[in-house]
Amino acid sequence: MILVVGGAGYIGSHAARTLRRHGYEVVIYDNLSRGHDFLVEGFELVVADIADHKRLAQVMKGVDAVMHFAAHSQVGESVQSPRIYFQNNAEGGLTLLNTALDAGVRKFIFSSTCAVYGVPEKVPITEDTPRQPVNPYGTSKLFFENALEAYDRAYGLRYMSLRYFNAAGADESGEIGELHDPETHLIPAALKAVTGERGELELFGSDYPTPDGTCVRDYVHVNDLADAHVLALKKIEAGSGSAALNLGTGLGCSVKEVITMVEEVTGAKVPRRVAPRRPGDPPTLVADPSRAQNSLQWKATRSLREIVQTAWQWERGGRQKARKA
Ligand code: UDP
Repeated sequence: MILVVGGAGYIGSHAARTLRRHGYEVVIYDNLSRGHDFLVEGFELVVADIADHKRLAQVMKGVDAVMHFAAHSQVGESVQSPRIYFQNNAEGGLTLLNTALDAGVRKFIFSSTCAVYGVPEKVPITEDTPRQPVNPYGTSKLFFENALEAYDRAYGLRYMSLRYFNAAGADESGEIGELHDPETHLIPAALKAVTGERGELELFGSDYPTPDGTCVRDYVHVNDLADAHVLALKKIEAGSGSAALNLGTGLGCSVKEVITMVEEVTGAKVPRRVAPRRPGDPPTLVADPSRAQNSLQWKATRSLREIVQTAWQWERGGRQKARKA
């Protein structure tokens, strides 16, 4: 059985479905502080916190592997309230890790992030880039990566730290998708500007040292990420050693290019205005995903168009239903 911790969140809920499609038995563990039970309808759900050692220890019986998605993930919030980031992502994460270890679980898949690299000197970013996070979110994720490395050496824990670039898009079914509150991410923000659910999109900075002056990111479809999790799990099940892998497409898209794609897909203009740069945004973050390609035989297969199409389908369908419920 696979314990999907934080499985009622955005990426965790997609991974849970993908695991099930591959025949795995899945139990979701989530405190629903930021997750949503309707994203995991039909799954066994344990509503509890990762800091709850007792509850975790009960659930851990019969678990073959843990996938850990339970983290706060907003950079700006982490700067404002570092305490909750270290408490949840570091302290809570460690309780989860220790409880798994004590229960004899030796397979662990961790949601890491390109934020561990901070502002890299070179792009595309390889896994050997020094890890120098520039905000508490990245620091908390790096702490957990370091714990996994130490536990591998000391206790024989086998892990994969999967460093996501910009997760985006939604399940092709239209039933689940991104649901953050507040929503800070570019693609949902642009779609909400189109529907009128919120005002103009603020385009944070148009004077970056990039081809069109706006920030460049590597947007990767959430179901491509979910596929990588299943492959990483299978690899560890087959006896592979631990690894840290970048999950991205290797292709950079500017904010302006994303807006153009949103306009093509929706057939509507994105109301917008140029706003000052958002503090802490590096000009360009693009993955070199070749290690994940070689080691997992994984490649992101969904395009920016499919990302925006599925996000749009979710925005108009499932998400609206969820909002009314
Ligand atoms: N961005 C923007 N307006 C928004 C949200 C994001 O211009 O309302 C830009 C942001 O500056 C960054 C890119 O879009 O360059 C992606 O931001 P997002 O918050 O989606 O992801 P992040 O790169 O911070 O993980």
